Amino acid sequence: MTDTTDTQAPATPLGTNPVAPAPAGARTAADVVTPEVVAQLTRGVVGSGRTANHTPFTGQRLAELPESTPEDVAEAFARARAAQGVWAATPVRARAAVLLRFHDLVLERQAEVLDLIQLETGKARLHAHEEVLAVAVVARHYGRRAAAYLGPKRHTGVVPALTKVTELRQPRGVVGHISPWNYPLELSVGDALPAFVSGNAVVMKPDTETALTALWARDLLIEAGLPAEVFQVVIGDGPVVGPEIVRHADYVSFTGSTRTGREVAQGAAARLVGVTLELGGKNAMLVLRDADVEKAAAGAVRACFSSAGQLCIAIERLYVHESIADEFVDRFAARTKAMRLGNSLAYGADMGSLVGERQLETVTRHVEEAVAKGAKLIAGGVARPDIGPLFYEPTILEGVQEPMAVCAEETFGPVVSIYRFTDEDEAVERVNATAYGLNASVWTRDGRRGHAIAARLRTGTVNINDGYAPAYGSVQAPMGGMKDSGIGRRHGSEGILKYTEAQTVAHQRLIPLAPSFGMDDEKYAAFMSRSLKVMKALRLR
Ligand code: NAD
Repeated sequence: MTDTTDTQAPATPLGTNPVAPAPAGARTAADVVTPEVVAQLTRGVVGSGRTANHTPFTGQRLAELPESTPEDVAEAFARARAAQGVWAATPVRARAAVLLRFHDLVLERQAEVLDLIQLETGKARLHAHEEVLAVAVVARHYGRRAAAYLGPKRHTGVVPALTKVTELRQPRGVVGHISPWNYPLELSVGDALPAFVSGNAVVMKPDTETALTALWARDLLIEAGLPAEVFQVVIGDGPVVGPEIVRHADYVSFTGSTRTGREVAQGAAARLVGVTLELGGKNAMLVLRDADVEKAAAGAVRACFSSAGQLCIAIERLYVHESIADEFVDRFAARTKAMRLGNSLAYGADMGSLVGERQLETVTRHVEEAVAKGAKLIAGGVARPDIGPLFYEPTILEGVQEPMAVCAEETFGPVVSIYRFTDEDEAVERVNATAYGLNASVWTRDGRRGHAIAARLRTGTVNINDGYAPAYGSVQAPMGGMKDSGIGRRHGSEGILKYTEAQTVAHQRLIPLAPSFGMDDEKYAAFMSRSLKVMKALRLR
């Protein structure tokens, strides 16, 4: 967290969090989203209607955008399908080179996309920068490793030496990609990179409110060498355009809420196409009695309030050992109350805005209901309209219990509840007692203990002595959710092979797998049975 002692801005009567001062000459929405920029970026959209998006910082309209009808979605798939064959026939190393060039371009031109991400999501620049890092890491990984993941693999045949077996990886065809607003660079184009490098075309539906960020990244990918027709974008209302994507796609990659994910899964199941679902969470952090309390308090600020808590892997439940709980709560609360809120297109704010009315309504409802039913506010708990219409202070609650909504439902905002525990086994049970299973965090000075606890948690990722970034950023390893948090994984081998169909090619040589050379059926059966025993004795796999 940033040291706040040099901040001049006073606390306002509305709350205690200071306001990050805007630097002199800071860019505004009008400087960044000019008519020329909008015209350039929206060329890539197949859409005959009109819609618009808005910036959470002020609530004002940011850009007028094309809107896609169901016919436009069909047209986008037709265009993508027509282009996919040539792209799939391009050698994998050439496709991978596009990702490596994209890596460099994103890092070089990051200032452009940081402005767009901030304007479209309202997040602090440091949190927007996490997206740049994540996308670059994914581009590097699949740029370097795609050929190894996708290349032909030899397997032992049923009759070794006589049966030559090769596993090939064929692209699915056209992937339908539906993404949310909270990480508009990373979860749109970032997640589509392994689909492209494995030879697929993609029809993408970003969230309308954050479409410019995805379109910016599309332009950059084309500059890096991706054929434009291979990457189609459609924009429009989720319940209208989303099901159309599922109706046409050869594979569906969805990131969003568990509720929508279930609908997407049903649509995909009816068509027998594969699907990845990256869904919600109610993630927990466990602070064990031997934890470094100061580090845990600083880590909790990042884990709970990055992107104003609108992060699927953010921590919303915090279990702290009773013996250190008072000290932890004091330190965590002090850091939280010192966080600077800000809305300028510059570094310096520790937290930005919520993205929309719906988020503000949920956050307010969860906090007010909990307080009305007896929970205690340790920090925050108020909106900050003095900064922007959707700002809300980072909020810590204690004394939360069932049936308060904040106890079990995903808030997806800057709200965390602290629970004290004395028995570690019981704490593990409470962490697991949720329908979700996305991410967890364990704090301890004893690495072995941390690993032992991690193995007992039912979550797709566990971070020891950090909140979420190490597991998410380590892209050689899979990332995704158990239980209601999803199906499938991004990153690593699973994150790319899902965009392919496995094809086994077996080449039978010299003798067939059938009675031959005058052998009758009975002799053949006995010979093969003996052969299997020999193969096991030879320790063949
Ligand atoms: P959402 O489900 O409302 O929307 C996600 C996307 O789906 C949007 O593009 C939306 O337009 C589209 N959509 C809406 N209705 C649809 C339908 N019927 N068919 C197909 N598509 C439809 O989710 P949201 O509010 O935009 O995002 C927040 C949620 O996403 C949170 O629950 C969060 O935890 C989750 N999320 C998960 C991950 C992850 O990796 N597990 C990452 C980010 C966000």
